[in-house]
Amino acid sequence: MKLIFEKSVTGRKGLKFPALDVPATAQLPKACLRQDDARLPEVSELDVVRHFTQLSQRNFSVDANFYPLGSCTMKYNPKFTEKVAAMPGFADLHPLLPQLKGGEKYTQGALEVLYESERWLCEITGMKAMTMQPLAGAHGELTGIMLMAAYHKAKGNTHKKYVIIPDSAHGTNPASAAVAGYEIISVPSDKKGVIDLAKLKAVVNEETAGLMMTCPDTHGVFNGQIDEVSKLIHSVDGIMYYDGANLNAILGRCRPGDVGFDVVHLNLHKTFATPHGGGGPGSGPVGVGERLEKFLPISRVIRRSDGMYALNYDYPDSIGYIASFYGAFGVILKAYAYMLLLGCEGLKQTTDHAVLNANYLLHRLKGHYQVAFDRICMHECLFSASRQLERGVHAIDIAKFLIDQNIHPPTVYFPLTVKEAIMVEPTETESKETLDTFAEAMIRADELSKTDPHAFHALPKTMPISRPDETKAAREVKVNFFAQSV
Ligand SMILES: *Cc1c(COP(=O)(O)O)cnc(C)c1O
Repeated sequence: MKLIFEKSVTGRKGLKFPALDVPATAQLPKACLRQDDARLPEVSELDVVRHFTQLSQRNFSVDANFYPLGSCTMKYNPKFTEKVAAMPGFADLHPLLPQLKGGEKYTQGALEVLYESERWLCEITGMKAMTMQPLAGAHGELTGIMLMAAYHKAKGNTHKKYVIIPDSAHGTNPASAAVAGYEIISVPSDKKGVIDLAKLKAVVNEETAGLMMTCPDTHGVFNGQIDEVSKLIHSVDGIMYYDGANLNAILGRCRPGDVGFDVVHLNLHKTFATPHGGGGPGSGPVGVGERLEKFLPISRVIRRSDGMYALNYDYPDSIGYIASFYGAFGVILKAYAYMLLLGCEGLKQTTDHAVLNANYLLHRLKGHYQVAFDRICMHECLFSASRQLERGVHAIDIAKFLIDQNIHPPTVYFPLTVKEAIMVEPTETESKETLDTFAEAMIRADELSKTDPHAFHALPKTMPISRPDETKAAREVKVNFFAQSV
């Protein structure tokens, strides 16, 4: 496909300006005037429309294709919530308004959304209070670990040095704990895919600041020993941190607060109606139990005794601001609309379908691919391409095969604990027919690995480029046409 600059023809126009109704020569200082004409493509309106429409169709999107990227929850989200977020009463509000004297009265709706979202998410997670400020999952993790550190500092726990993290954790977990100033101890998983309790016991001591855990973890399995883990960590005054990025596995069925967690972060842009990925806006609210509440970031939205909502900054122990204003308000608004739309029962069904769909795929593909952990899974199922590897076909080759079938590849080579990992998260929004189409494509890939393993090396065949350098394609991108052509 050509660049729009390559489609440019001198003199071609797509726009006719109206006649000027002001003097044509404005009096500007010479230094402010442009020296050369702007380099713009000269194209017709139709050229532009076709160019960008075709470009948009190159996108692999959840609106067009199945997107079973494990640990990312690339589910279809209702367009209704987008509509709500675009309502002018919300979208046009100036973020400074509620902070101005008298401005609160014009922002009651927005403040109520923040207040109610916090309340509902606290109910869902079993937490006491929540900050809606963090702008992504990883940002929420950092906030949560800073709250952990504030707790230890206030208690005079100066000997706390380590945060314990299972080896199956998402990479952001150790990164966040390290950025917050802790050293990391990684604990291996046992044969069932959950943290090895004996090995955990061996490393927990007075220097343990806390434990970060994902449940279900990125092996896609539930940890039935959480109570024991919580007791152990609490016995040394450690903090239990819950990575709730994948909450759609337990939504409405299990509350982290009820099984001993002290801090929880959520990814509204996975579970609550904003798509993950593509660099779009995110939101990673952080909920806490009683012990950590006073350290939460400011400002906080309160409901006054006269029923009015207001911002409150009067928290002397707060860790301060973690983001400007009130977080990603549009994303929070979508989550609010989504919770209203589904209601309590609907949210529970979300989880049930997510888990059912993953187990269906696990069952259908079991005979063809090695399963990482042979047990009932939660919202995602984990395979290994180890059998295919014996025939010279890697997980990445299967991923490339799927691209030609119009299916976005699942997550491959993560978690790091499983060789040739293929991690599939079908999500609750997919139908049985779509799951069958995917399963059949995976089975065809397995068959091809038996009959013609070399065929994989030329895949994908349907894309503008086939096999970019996996590292350089992300690190050395050249996107500036002029920089290249000069
Ligand atoms: C996605 C994810 C994160 C990080 O969330 P971001 O919004 O991408 O920063 C953390 N933990 C787990 C388990 C995740 O799946």
